[in-house]
Amino acid sequence: MKRSHLIKPILDHNYPTVSHGSGIYLYDMDGNQYIDGSSGAVTASIGHGVLEVVDAMTEQASKVSFAYRSHFTSEAAETLAQKLSELAPGDLNWTFFVNSGSEATETAMKIAIQHWQEKGYERKNRIVSRWTSYHGITMGALSMSGHVLRRKRFVPLLEDFPGISAPYCYRCPYNSEPSSCRLQCANELETAIQRIGSENIAAFIAEPIIGASAGAVTPPDGYYQRIKEICERYDILFIADEVMTGIGRTGKMFAMEHWGVTPDIIALGKGMSAGYTPMAATLVSDRVMEPILKGSKSIMAGHTYSANPLSAAVSLEVLNYIERKNLVQEAEEKGQYLLQQLHGLAERFDIIGDVRGKGLLLGLEFVSNRISKKSFRLQNGITTRIVNKAFEKGLLIYPASGAIEGIEGDAVIISPPLVISNEEIDRLVKMLEASIEELQHELH
Ligand code: PLP
Repeated sequence: MKRSHLIKPILDHNYPTVSHGSGIYLYDMDGNQYIDGSSGAVTASIGHGVLEVVDAMTEQASKVSFAYRSHFTSEAAETLAQKLSELAPGDLNWTFFVNSGSEATETAMKIAIQHWQEKGYERKNRIVSRWTSYHGITMGALSMSGHVLRRKRFVPLLEDFPGISAPYCYRCPYNSEPSSCRLQCANELETAIQRIGSENIAAFIAEPIIGASAGAVTPPDGYYQRIKEICERYDILFIADEVMTGIGRTGKMFAMEHWGVTPDIIALGKGMSAGYTPMAATLVSDRVMEPILKGSKSIMAGHTYSANPLSAAVSLEVLNYIERKNLVQEAEEKGQYLLQQLHGLAERFDIIGDVRGKGLLLGLEFVSNRISKKSFRLQNGITTRIVNKAFEKGLLIYPASGAIEGIEGDAVIISPPLVISNEEIDRLVKMLEASIEELQHELH
Protein backbone atom coordinates (compact mmCIF):
# COMPACT_ATOMS: atom_id res chain seq x y z
CA MET A 1 0.00 0.00 0.00
CA LYS A 2 1.19 3.53 -0.74
CA ARG A 3 2.71 5.29 2.25
CA SER A 4 0.58 8.07 3.81
CA HIS A 5 2.25 11.35 4.80
CA LEU A 6 -0.85 12.66 6.55
CA ILE A 7 -0.97 12.71 10.35
CA LYS A 8 -4.41 11.33 11.15
CA PRO A 9 -6.10 11.04 14.55
CA ILE A 10 -4.85 7.47 15.08
CA LEU A 11 -1.71 6.89 13.10
CA ASP A 12 -2.04 3.17 12.46
CA HIS A 13 -5.78 3.23 11.76
CA ASN A 14 -7.00 2.56 8.28
CA TYR A 15 -9.49 5.36 7.48
CA PRO A 16 -11.70 5.11 4.41
CA THR A 17 -11.22 7.90 1.87
CA VAL A 18 -14.25 10.15 1.60
CA SER A 19 -15.56 10.64 -1.89
CA HIS A 20 -18.60 12.90 -1.63
CA GLY A 21 -21.60 13.82 0.48
CA SER A 22 -25.28 14.49 -0.03
CA GLY A 23 -27.81 15.43 2.65
CA ILE A 24 -27.23 13.29 5.73
CA TYR A 25 -25.02 10.84 3.80
CA LEU A 26 -21.28 10.55 3.18
CA TYR A 27 -19.75 8.13 0.69
CA ASP A 28 -16.29 6.62 0.49
CA MET A 29 -14.23 5.80 -2.60
CA ASP A 30 -15.39 2.18 -2.49
CA GLY A 31 -18.99 3.32 -2.81
CA ASN A 32 -19.99 2.65 0.82
CA GLN A 33 -22.69 4.90 2.24
CA TYR A 34 -22.60 6.29 5.79
CA ILE A 35 -25.28 8.13 7.74
CA ASP A 36 -23.57 11.16 9.27
CA GLY A 37 -25.26 10.49 12.60
CA SER A 38 -23.26 13.09 14.50
CA SER A 39 -22.75 15.66 11.70
CA GLY A 40 -19.05 14.83 11.94
CA ALA A 41 -18.08 16.51 15.18
CA VAL A 42 -21.55 18.12 15.53
CA THR A 43 -20.74 20.37 12.60
CA ALA A 44 -22.47 19.52 9.30
CA SER A 45 -25.81 20.91 10.44
CA ILE A 46 -27.32 21.67 7.03
CA GLY A 47 -26.15 18.39 5.54
CA HIS A 48 -23.67 17.77 2.75
CA GLY A 49 -23.55 18.99 -0.82
CA VAL A 50 -25.85 22.02 -0.49
CA LEU A 51 -25.57 23.76 -3.84
CA GLU A 52 -26.63 27.19 -2.56
CA VAL A 53 -23.49 27.20 -0.40
CA VAL A 54 -21.34 26.08 -3.32
CA ASP A 55 -22.80 28.97 -5.36
CA ALA A 56 -22.11 31.49 -2.59
CA MET A 57 -18.58 30.16 -2.32
CA THR A 58 -17.97 30.36 -6.06
CA GLU A 59 -19.42 33.83 -6.32
CA GLN A 60 -17.27 35.20 -3.50
CA ALA A 61 -14.13 33.36 -4.69
CA SER A 62 -14.55 34.78 -8.16
CA LYS A 63 -14.49 38.30 -6.65
CA VAL A 64 -11.95 37.97 -3.85
CA SER A 65 -11.19 35.15 -1.39
CA PHE A 66 -8.73 36.86 0.88
CA ALA A 67 -7.95 40.39 1.89
CA TYR A 68 -5.99 41.01 5.06
CA ARG A 69 -8.17 42.40 7.82
CA SER A 70 -5.63 45.10 8.70
CA HIS A 71 -5.97 46.39 5.14
CA PHE A 72 -9.62 45.90 4.28
CA THR A 73 -13.02 45.07 5.61
CA SER A 74 -15.39 43.17 3.30
CA GLU A 75 -19.08 43.24 2.52
CA ALA A 76 -19.35 39.55 3.39
CA ALA A 77 -17.78 39.94 6.85
CA GLU A 78 -19.76 43.12 7.59
CA THR A 79 -23.05 41.52 6.58
CA LEU A 80 -22.32 38.36 8.56
CA ALA A 81 -21.44 40.36 11.68
CA GLN A 82 -24.66 42.34 11.29
CA LYS A 83 -26.67 39.15 10.85
CA LEU A 84 -25.15 37.65 14.00
CA SER A 85 -25.94 40.77 16.00
CA GLU A 86 -29.58 40.49 14.86
CA LEU A 87 -29.75 36.80 15.80
CA ALA A 88 -27.94 37.09 19.13
CA PRO A 89 -29.84 37.90 22.31
CA GLY A 90 -29.43 41.13 24.31
CA ASP A 91 -26.67 43.54 23.37
CA LEU A 92 -24.27 40.99 21.88
CA ASN A 93 -23.73 43.35 18.98
CA TRP A 94 -20.06 42.79 18.16
CA THR A 95 -18.34 39.89 16.42
CA PHE A 96 -14.69 38.88 16.21
CA PHE A 97 -14.14 36.23 13.51
CA VAL A 98 -11.71 33.37 13.97
CA ASN A 99 -11.26 29.95 12.37
CA SER A 100 -11.98 27.31 15.00
CA GLY A 101 -13.89 26.81 18.21
CA SER A 102 -10.63 26.74 20.17
CA GLU A 103 -9.72 30.16 18.82
CA ALA A 104 -13.22 31.42 19.62
CA THR A 105 -13.04 30.43 23.31
CA GLU A 106 -9.44 31.58 23.61
CA THR A 107 -10.39 34.93 22.08
CA ALA A 108 -13.33 35.13 24.50
CA MET A 109 -10.91 34.65 27.37
CA LYS A 110 -8.58 37.36 26.05
CA ILE A 111 -11.40 39.84 25.48
CA ALA A 112 -12.70 39.24 29.02
CA ILE A 113 -9.24 39.91 30.45
CA GLN A 114 -8.76 42.96 28.27
CA HIS A 115 -12.17 44.33 29.28
CA TRP A 116 -11.12 44.43 32.92
CA GLN A 117 -7.63 45.74 32.16
CA GLU A 118 -9.06 48.67 30.24
CA LYS A 119 -11.27 49.43 33.23
CA GLY A 120 -8.18 49.48 35.40
CA TYR A 121 -8.52 46.05 37.01
CA GLU A 122 -5.17 44.53 36.06
CA ARG A 123 -5.46 41.54 38.37
CA LYS A 124 -8.85 40.35 37.13
CA ASN A 125 -7.40 37.68 34.82
CA ARG A 126 -8.36 34.20 36.06
CA ILE A 127 -11.06 32.19 34.29
CA VAL A 128 -13.26 29.84 36.29
CA SER A 129 -14.55 26.83 34.37
CA ARG A 130 -16.01 23.40 35.12
CA TRP A 131 -14.66 19.91 35.29
CA THR A 132 -16.19 17.67 32.63
CA SER A 133 -15.95 20.32 29.94
CA TYR A 134 -14.22 20.95 26.66
CA HIS A 135 -13.40 24.39 25.31
CA GLY A 136 -10.71 23.55 22.76
CA ILE A 137 -7.26 22.14 22.13
CA THR A 138 -4.99 25.23 22.04
CA MET A 139 -3.18 25.92 25.30
CA GLY A 140 -5.45 28.72 26.54
CA ALA A 141 -8.62 26.84 25.61
CA LEU A 142 -7.23 23.63 27.10
CA SER A 143 -6.41 25.49 30.32
CA MET A 144 -10.12 26.25 30.64
CA SER A 145 -11.14 22.68 29.73
CA GLY A 146 -11.89 19.99 32.28
CA HIS A 147 -11.19 17.09 29.96
CA VAL A 148 -8.59 14.95 31.72
CA LEU A 149 -7.51 12.88 28.73
CA ARG A 150 -6.92 15.88 26.48
CA ARG A 151 -5.12 17.86 29.22
CA LYS A 152 -2.96 15.10 30.62
CA ARG A 153 0.26 15.54 28.60
CA PHE A 154 0.28 19.31 28.95
CA VAL A 155 -0.79 19.90 32.53
CA PRO A 156 2.55 21.48 33.59
CA LEU A 157 2.20 24.05 30.80
CA LEU A 158 -1.45 24.91 31.36
CA GLU A 159 -2.82 27.79 33.40
CA ASP A 160 -4.04 26.48 36.73
CA PHE A 161 -7.56 27.80 36.26
CA PRO A 162 -9.99 26.78 38.98
CA GLY A 163 -12.70 24.29 38.10
CA ILE A 164 -16.07 23.67 39.71
CA SER A 165 -18.37 20.64 39.44
CA ALA A 166 -20.45 20.17 36.31
CA PRO A 167 -24.27 20.11 36.48
CA TYR A 168 -24.22 16.39 35.75
CA CYS A 169 -27.63 15.36 37.08
CA TYR A 170 -27.27 11.68 36.20
CA ARG A 171 -24.21 11.60 38.44
CA CYS A 172 -25.04 14.48 40.71
CA PRO A 173 -21.94 15.53 42.65
CA TYR A 174 -24.24 16.15 45.65
CA ASN A 175 -26.28 12.95 45.27
CA SER A 176 -29.44 15.00 44.85
CA GLU A 177 -32.48 13.97 42.87
CA PRO A 178 -34.05 16.51 40.49
CA SER A 179 -36.91 16.95 43.01
CA SER A 180 -34.53 17.79 45.88
CA CYS A 181 -31.96 19.71 43.81
CA ARG A 182 -30.84 22.95 45.43
CA LEU A 183 -28.45 23.82 42.62
CA GLN A 184 -25.44 23.27 44.84
CA CYS A 185 -23.26 22.75 41.76
CA ALA A 186 -24.14 26.30 40.65
CA ASN A 187 -23.50 27.60 44.17
CA GLU A 188 -19.98 26.15 43.92
CA LEU A 189 -19.22 29.08 41.64
CA GLU A 190 -19.89 31.47 44.51
CA THR A 191 -17.68 29.44 46.85
CA ALA A 192 -14.88 29.42 44.26
CA ILE A 193 -15.19 33.19 43.76
CA GLN A 194 -15.06 33.81 47.51
CA ARG A 195 -11.98 31.61 47.81
CA ILE A 196 -10.07 33.13 44.88
CA GLY A 197 -11.38 36.67 45.25
CA SER A 198 -13.54 38.31 42.62
CA GLU A 199 -10.76 40.89 42.14
CA ASN A 200 -8.76 38.06 40.53
CA ILE A 201 -11.42 36.63 38.23
CA ALA A 202 -12.30 37.88 34.75
CA ALA A 203 -14.96 35.38 33.73
CA PHE A 204 -16.74 32.09 34.15
CA ILE A 205 -17.02 29.90 31.04
CA ALA A 206 -19.44 27.02 30.42
CA GLU A 207 -20.90 24.94 27.60
CA PRO A 208 -24.70 25.33 27.84
CA ILE A 209 -25.00 21.58 27.19
CA ILE A 210 -21.82 19.62 27.85
CA GLY A 211 -20.68 17.94 24.65
CA ALA A 212 -17.37 16.28 23.88
CA SER A 213 -16.48 15.36 27.44
CA ALA A 214 -19.70 13.67 28.51
CA GLY A 215 -22.32 13.46 25.76
CA ALA A 216 -25.06 16.10 25.84
CA VAL A 217 -25.19 16.56 29.61
CA THR A 218 -28.00 19.05 30.22
CA PRO A 219 -28.24 21.15 33.39
CA PRO A 220 -31.34 21.38 35.57
CA ASP A 221 -33.72 24.30 35.12
CA GLY A 222 -32.62 27.27 37.14
CA TYR A 223 -28.93 26.40 36.89
CA TYR A 224 -27.92 29.11 34.44
CA GLN A 225 -30.19 31.69 36.04
CA ARG A 226 -28.29 31.07 39.31
CA ILE A 227 -24.92 31.17 37.52
CA LYS A 228 -25.79 34.49 35.90
CA GLU A 229 -26.96 35.93 39.25
CA ILE A 230 -23.66 34.95 40.87
CA CYS A 231 -21.61 36.38 37.99
CA GLU A 232 -23.50 39.67 38.26
CA ARG A 233 -23.24 39.82 42.04
CA TYR A 234 -19.44 39.46 41.90
CA ASP A 235 -18.81 41.42 38.71
CA ILE A 236 -17.58 38.50 36.67
CA LEU A 237 -18.30 38.06 32.98
CA PHE A 238 -20.23 35.03 31.79
CA ILE A 239 -18.89 33.36 28.63
CA ALA A 240 -21.18 30.80 26.98
CA ASP A 241 -19.22 28.36 24.86
CA GLU A 242 -21.84 27.69 22.19
CA VAL A 243 -19.33 26.20 19.76
CA MET A 244 -21.27 22.93 19.75
CA THR A 245 -24.73 24.11 20.79
CA GLY A 246 -25.02 27.35 18.79
CA ILE A 247 -26.82 28.10 15.51
CA GLY A 248 -29.90 25.98 15.93
CA ARG A 249 -28.46 22.67 17.04
CA THR A 250 -30.54 22.39 20.24
CA GLY A 251 -33.80 23.72 18.79
CA LYS A 252 -33.02 27.37 19.63
CA MET A 253 -30.64 29.60 17.72
CA PHE A 254 -28.50 29.78 20.88
CA ALA A 255 -28.86 27.08 23.54
CA MET A 256 -28.75 29.67 26.33
CA GLU A 257 -32.21 30.81 25.15
CA HIS A 258 -33.64 27.62 26.69
CA TRP A 259 -33.01 29.23 30.06
CA GLY A 260 -33.57 32.85 29.07
CA VAL A 261 -30.06 33.82 30.11
CA THR A 262 -27.99 36.28 28.09
CA PRO A 263 -24.23 35.81 28.38
CA ASP A 264 -21.70 38.64 28.10
CA ILE A 265 -19.67 36.79 25.48
CA ILE A 266 -20.58 33.84 23.23
CA ALA A 267 -18.12 31.56 21.42
CA LEU A 268 -19.38 30.02 18.16
CA GLY A 269 -17.90 27.55 15.68
CA LYS A 270 -18.90 24.25 14.09
CA GLY A 271 -22.50 24.83 12.89
CA MET A 272 -21.71 28.44 12.04
CA SER A 273 -20.39 27.34 8.68
CA ALA A 274 -21.80 23.79 8.92
CA GLY A 275 -18.40 22.47 7.90
CA TYR A 276 -18.29 24.19 4.50
CA THR A 277 -15.30 26.26 5.56
CA PRO A 278 -13.28 26.79 8.75
CA MET A 279 -15.17 29.58 10.49
CA ALA A 280 -15.83 30.55 14.11
CA ALA A 281 -16.59 33.69 16.04
CA THR A 282 -16.60 35.40 19.40
CA LEU A 283 -19.70 37.53 19.98
CA VAL A 284 -19.22 40.36 22.45
CA SER A 285 -21.74 42.59 24.18
CA ASP A 286 -21.79 46.40 23.99
CA ARG A 287 -21.10 46.48 27.72
CA VAL A 288 -17.94 44.39 27.39
CA MET A 289 -16.72 46.40 24.40
CA GLU A 290 -17.36 49.79 25.97
CA PRO A 291 -14.08 50.24 27.90
CA ILE A 292 -12.12 48.91 24.93
CA LEU A 293 -13.82 51.37 22.58
CA LYS A 294 -13.04 54.19 24.97
CA GLY A 295 -9.55 52.86 25.65
CA SER A 296 -7.08 51.10 23.36
CA LYS A 297 -9.66 50.67 20.55
CA SER A 298 -8.10 47.39 19.53
CA ILE A 299 -8.63 43.79 20.58
CA MET A 300 -5.31 42.10 21.10
CA ALA A 301 -6.17 38.87 19.24
CA GLY A 302 -6.71 37.76 15.67
CA HIS A 303 -5.40 35.48 12.97
CA THR A 304 -4.29 35.87 9.38
CA TYR A 305 -7.52 34.30 8.17
CA SER A 306 -9.82 36.14 10.59
CA ALA A 307 -12.85 37.59 8.78
CA ASN A 308 -11.66 36.44 5.37
CA PRO A 309 -14.34 37.20 2.76
CA LEU A 310 -14.64 33.64 1.46
CA SER A 311 -15.44 32.03 4.82
CA ALA A 312 -17.72 34.94 5.72
CA ALA A 313 -19.74 34.53 2.50
CA VAL A 314 -20.06 30.80 3.08
CA SER A 315 -21.15 31.23 6.69
CA LEU A 316 -23.65 33.92 5.71
CA GLU A 317 -25.26 31.57 3.20
CA VAL A 318 -25.37 28.80 5.83
CA LEU A 319 -27.25 31.13 8.22
CA ASN A 320 -29.63 32.23 5.46
CA TYR A 321 -30.21 28.60 4.49
CA ILE A 322 -31.02 27.70 8.10
CA GLU A 323 -33.58 30.52 8.18
CA ARG A 324 -35.10 29.72 4.78
CA LYS A 325 -35.52 26.05 5.63
CA ASN A 326 -36.70 26.75 9.18
CA LEU A 327 -34.02 24.42 10.51
CA VAL A 328 -34.05 25.67 14.10
CA GLN A 329 -37.68 24.60 14.39
CA GLU A 330 -36.81 21.36 12.57
CA ALA A 331 -34.08 20.64 15.13
CA GLU A 332 -36.66 20.99 17.89
CA GLU A 333 -39.26 18.75 16.18
CA LYS A 334 -36.90 16.11 14.82
CA GLY A 335 -35.09 16.14 18.14
CA GLN A 336 -38.33 15.21 19.94
CA TYR A 337 -38.87 12.34 17.53
CA LEU A 338 -35.30 11.04 17.86
CA LEU A 339 -35.33 11.44 21.65
CA GLN A 340 -38.47 9.35 21.88
CA GLN A 341 -36.82 6.60 19.85
CA LEU A 342 -33.67 6.69 21.97
CA HIS A 343 -35.83 6.28 25.09
CA GLY A 344 -37.33 3.28 23.32
CA LEU A 345 -33.84 1.81 22.95
CA ALA A 346 -33.17 2.44 26.64
CA GLU A 347 -36.22 0.32 27.47
CA ARG A 348 -34.77 -2.54 25.44
CA PHE A 349 -31.13 -2.37 26.49
CA ASP A 350 -30.11 -2.13 30.11
CA ILE A 351 -26.58 -0.98 29.24
CA ILE A 352 -28.12 2.40 28.37
CA GLY A 353 -28.06 4.29 31.67
CA ASP A 354 -29.14 7.73 30.53
CA VAL A 355 -30.69 9.42 27.50
CA ARG A 356 -30.32 13.21 27.43
CA GLY A 357 -29.91 16.40 25.48
CA LYS A 358 -32.01 18.97 23.65
CA GLY A 359 -33.04 19.36 20.03
CA LEU A 360 -30.70 17.38 17.83
CA LEU A 361 -27.88 17.28 20.35
CA LEU A 362 -28.63 14.03 22.12
CA GLY A 363 -26.49 11.66 24.15
CA LEU A 364 -26.53 8.12 25.48
CA GLU A 365 -24.50 7.04 28.49
CA PHE A 366 -23.66 3.37 28.92
CA VAL A 367 -23.40 1.64 32.30
CA SER A 368 -22.61 -1.85 33.50
CA ASN A 369 -25.35 -1.66 36.13
CA ARG A 370 -28.37 0.50 35.65
CA ILE A 371 -29.44 0.54 39.30
CA SER A 372 -26.05 1.49 40.76
CA LYS A 373 -25.11 3.49 37.61
CA LYS A 374 -21.75 1.78 37.76
CA SER A 375 -19.63 2.56 34.72
CA PHE A 376 -17.88 -0.03 32.65
CA ARG A 377 -14.20 -0.47 33.32
CA LEU A 378 -12.00 1.47 30.95
CA GLN A 379 -10.43 -1.72 29.60
CA ASN A 380 -13.82 -2.71 28.20
CA GLY A 381 -13.52 0.16 25.73
CA ILE A 382 -17.31 0.41 25.47
CA THR A 383 -17.47 3.77 23.71
CA THR A 384 -14.98 2.71 21.04
CA ARG A 385 -16.75 -0.60 20.53
CA ILE A 386 -20.14 1.05 20.04
CA VAL A 387 -18.69 3.65 17.67
CA ASN A 388 -16.88 0.92 15.67
CA LYS A 389 -19.91 -1.33 15.47
CA ALA A 390 -22.04 1.56 14.23
CA PHE A 391 -19.33 2.44 11.71
CA GLU A 392 -19.29 -1.11 10.33
CA LYS A 393 -23.01 -0.75 9.70
CA GLY A 394 -22.59 2.60 7.99
CA LEU A 395 -23.52 4.89 10.88
CA LEU A 396 -21.16 7.60 12.12
CA ILE A 397 -21.54 8.65 15.77
CA TYR A 398 -19.38 10.76 18.06
CA PRO A 399 -17.58 9.32 21.10
CA ALA A 400 -17.85 11.50 24.19
CA SER A 401 -15.67 10.13 26.93
CA GLY A 402 -12.39 10.56 28.72
CA ALA A 403 -13.33 13.60 30.76
CA ILE A 404 -12.77 11.99 34.10
CA GLU A 405 -10.38 9.11 34.45
CA GLY A 406 -11.93 5.81 35.34
CA ILE A 407 -15.54 6.89 35.70
CA GLU A 408 -18.30 8.30 33.55
CA GLY A 409 -16.35 6.72 30.76
CA ASP A 410 -18.86 5.79 28.14
CA ALA A 411 -21.14 8.06 26.20
CA VAL A 412 -21.89 8.87 22.59
CA ILE A 413 -23.46 11.87 20.90
CA ILE A 414 -26.22 11.43 18.32
CA SER A 415 -26.54 14.69 16.45
CA PRO A 416 -27.47 14.22 12.79
CA PRO A 417 -27.79 17.15 10.36
CA LEU A 418 -30.86 19.30 11.12
CA VAL A 419 -32.24 18.43 7.68
CA ILE A 420 -32.79 14.77 8.62
CA SER A 421 -36.27 13.35 7.88
CA ASN A 422 -38.30 11.08 10.16
CA GLU A 423 -37.67 8.13 7.83
CA GLU A 424 -33.94 8.79 8.00
CA ILE A 425 -34.14 8.96 11.78
CA ASP A 426 -35.80 5.53 11.73
CA ARG A 427 -32.89 4.18 9.66
CA LEU A 428 -30.34 5.74 11.97
CA VAL A 429 -32.02 4.29 15.05
CA LYS A 430 -32.24 0.81 13.49
CA MET A 431 -28.48 0.83 12.87
CA LEU A 432 -27.81 2.09 16.37
CA GLU A 433 -30.10 -0.53 17.80
CA ALA A 434 -28.28 -3.31 15.94
CA SER A 435 -24.93 -1.98 17.21
CA ILE A 436 -26.06 -1.85 20.83
CA GLU A 437 -27.72 -5.24 20.56
CA GLU A 438 -24.46 -6.79 19.35
CA LEU A 439 -22.50 -5.15 22.14
CA GLN A 440 -24.96 -6.11 24.86
CA HIS A 441 -24.88 -9.67 23.53
CA GLU A 442 -21.07 -9.72 23.73
CA LEU A 443 -21.15 -8.45 27.28
CA HIS A 444 -23.66 -10.95 28.67
N1 PLP B 1 -15.82 24.34 22.48
C1 PLP B 1 -16.68 23.31 22.42
C2 PLP B 1 -17.91 23.32 23.26
C3 PLP B 1 -16.43 22.24 21.56
O1 PLP B 1 -17.28 21.21 21.52
C4 PLP B 1 -15.26 22.27 20.76
C5 PLP B 1 -14.94 21.14 19.87
O2 PLP B 1 -15.42 20.05 20.00
C6 PLP B 1 -14.41 23.37 20.86
C7 PLP B 1 -14.72 24.40 21.72
C8 PLP B 1 -13.18 23.45 20.01
O3 PLP B 1 -13.52 23.66 18.69
P1 PLP B 1 -12.49 23.34 17.50
O4 PLP B 1 -12.33 21.84 17.47
O5 PLP B 1 -13.16 23.88 16.30
O6 PLP B 1 -11.23 24.04 17.83
